[in-house]
Amino acid sequence: MKLYNIKDHSEVVDFAQAVRQGLGRDQGLFFPSEIRKLDNIDELLKMDLVTRSEKVLRNFLGDELPDLSDILKRAFTFPAPLVKVSENTYALELFHGPTLAFKDFGGRFMAQALQAVSGGQHITILTATSGDTGAAVAHAFYGIEGIDVVILYPKGKISNLQEKLFCTLGGNIRTVAINGTFDDCQALVKKAFDDEELKKAIGLNSANSINISRLLAQICYYFEAYAQLPEDRRSNVVVSVPSGNFGDITAGLLARACGLPIKRFVISTNANDTVPRYLSTGRWEPKETVPTLSNAMDVSRPNNWPRVEELFRVMGWSLSELAYGAMNDDETRDAMRRLHALGYVGEPHGTIAWSLLQDNLAADETGIFLCTAAPAKFKENVDLILGTDIPLPEALASRSEMKVLSDNFDPDWETLRKYLMK
Ligand SMILES: *Cc1c(COP(=O)(O)O)cnc(C)c1O
Repeated sequence: MKLYNIKDHSEVVDFAQAVRQGLGRDQGLFFPSEIRKLDNIDELLKMDLVTRSEKVLRNFLGDELPDLSDILKRAFTFPAPLVKVSENTYALELFHGPTLAFKDFGGRFMAQALQAVSGGQHITILTATSGDTGAAVAHAFYGIEGIDVVILYPKGKISNLQEKLFCTLGGNIRTVAINGTFDDCQALVKKAFDDEELKKAIGLNSANSINISRLLAQICYYFEAYAQLPEDRRSNVVVSVPSGNFGDITAGLLARACGLPIKRFVISTNANDTVPRYLSTGRWEPKETVPTLSNAMDVSRPNNWPRVEELFRVMGWSLSELAYGAMNDDETRDAMRRLHALGYVGEPHGTIAWSLLQDNLAADETGIFLCTAAPAKFKENVDLILGTDIPLPEALASRSEMKVLSDNFDPDWETLRKYLMK
């Protein structure tokens, strides 16, 4: 598989290098040089998730990643059920993994892929988290030989449950409660990546969210959704994607580019609506990011958007084909109550996708909205808004009694450097 840097097409790398490197020169994103159409979609739809995903990804990877089948078996260990919500609307539940969010798909595949392409070289993943990304990274890399993970987070500034979820693993996962803010943690991480000697010594890698391996993994569940639709519901399919950094929807568009017959996508955002405003006015005008109920989408400069535009360009599609909408918190609360009245408990992100899907769905169409996190992850708000008392899922409940294993120190560079070196 060849990929080029969107900012400089002369930089071309293979999959292994793109995974190791993350970003190209000038912070440019890597993009596949060739997107081949699959000619056996009907056959693919009859297969199980892992078997089908291998075929879909082989179409990109060629003969790279020879262990793909084993990698997928280890990464995709949980289902992505499609649940009927009303006559022509289905929820794709992507939250049945260890950290209860769709990022488990991309994170777990990336961890396996990175190990496979590292050539036996030792790697240290260093990242700062304000809560959720840390959990996904920790669980994805837990137990992976040859890769150590260090996660920094601001002491006392993440919820107890969040802390329990990723600071109780041990093994190759080290967590550090920093006596400071999230910005202090990020500044420390930045310093580490600027330190060439340290970088070499411990094989520093960021495994960040724009890694191409994540997108490849996410393509797979769009096929899975389609495969679960009843046969008489497979024409005129519209998919609504709750979007923050626009990785998830990029993967969906790539699935379509490979031939999955999705008629239309709906871009669904909260009040951080840079893209909906751009699609309506043609002007790219990011505003200050505002906090919302759907906080994983609190992004005003979505870092995967250049990939969306590149895909439309190479496919000859028009951005005007995209449906879109944005909702504020009051509208989100109201939508959660309306969805609940249909018998479905949704958390803020998936509910925004549901509501904007309803606004953009004709009677002869079938709609799928992506549920990116489990309601229990947002229990406090969900219970408050819906008057429910939703149970903690096993993944959270079993960890809530465990001991937090984090180390603790001040936001001091020399202390962290010594810690990383040992
Ligand atoms: C990350 C995240 C999103 C946004 O996904 P992008 O790929 O960044 O657009 C939506 N919902 C939840 C729960 C998330 O964690």
